Amino acid sequence: MPELLTIVLATSNQGKLAELRALLADLPIRFCSAAEVLGEQPSIVENGETFEANALIKARAVARATGTLALADDSGLEVDALGGRPGVRSARFAHEHATDAENNAALLRELENVDERAARFRCVLALVSPWPASDELVAEGTCAGSIAREPRGSGGFGYDPLFLVSGHEGKAMAELSEQVKNGLSHRARAVRALRSALLKSLNDRLDEAERIAG
Ligand code: IMP
Repeated sequence: MPELLTIVLATSNQGKLAELRALLADLPIRFCSAAEVLGEQPSIVENGETFEANALIKARAVARATGTLALADDSGLEVDALGGRPGVRSARFAHEHATDAENNAALLRELENVDERAARFRCVLALVSPWPASDELVAEGTCAGSIAREPRGSGGFGYDPLFLVSGHEGKAMAELSEQVKNGLSHRARAVRALRSALLKSLNDRLDEAERIAG
C-alpha cells in the first residue's frame, strides 16, 4: 500500500512507539520517530499539569522542529487511593530518571497497607500540523483496573505488570498478548477516537494529489 502521509511520533518511549505503530498499521501512513528525522531526540520540557497539556507541548515542539505532522502520546496511571497520582508524573514517580522497575517498586511501597486499589490508565493523543492556523486535534482513552500486590507477566512496558485489567479474570496487562492489549488499552481507545481525523487528513491528501494531477 503506498504511503500518503508522513507523521512524526513525538515520543522516545519504545513501548509507546511500538504500540502506536501497530495500532495504526492499517493506514497508508509512514510513521517515523522524532529522533529518526532530526538525528537526535529533541529535548522538551513536559511541564503541563494535565495529560492534554503535555501531549500538546510535545506535538507542537516536534511539528515545529521537523516541519511535519506530529502525533504525541501523553499517558499514565491514576490510582484512586493516591488521589490520582502518579498521573502526569507516571514516568518520574520514583525519581526524575526512574526505570519502570523503580516506578513499580515505588508504587507497591506506597500501596503496601492499602486495600482499595482501583486505578486506570489514561492516554491523550495530540495531532498537530506545522502549518500555522491549522487545527490541533486531541483524543483520549482510558482503561479501568486495579493495582496488583506483586508484578506479573513480561509483556508491555511501564506499569503493565502491576495493572490488573477489569473484566479480564484478574490478569495483569503484562500477561495479555500484544493483540489483546491493543484491543482494550487506553492507547487503543484514544487511537480509535483519533482515527476519523486521520482518515480525513488522508482524504485531503488524496484530493490534493488529484487536483495537482489535473
Ligand atoms: P509520558 O512519557 O510522560 O507520557 O509517561 C508515560 C508513563 O506512563 C510511562 O513511562 C509509563 O510508566 C506509564 N504508561 C503509559 N502508558 C502505559 C502503558 O500502556 N502501560 C504501562 N505503563 C504506561
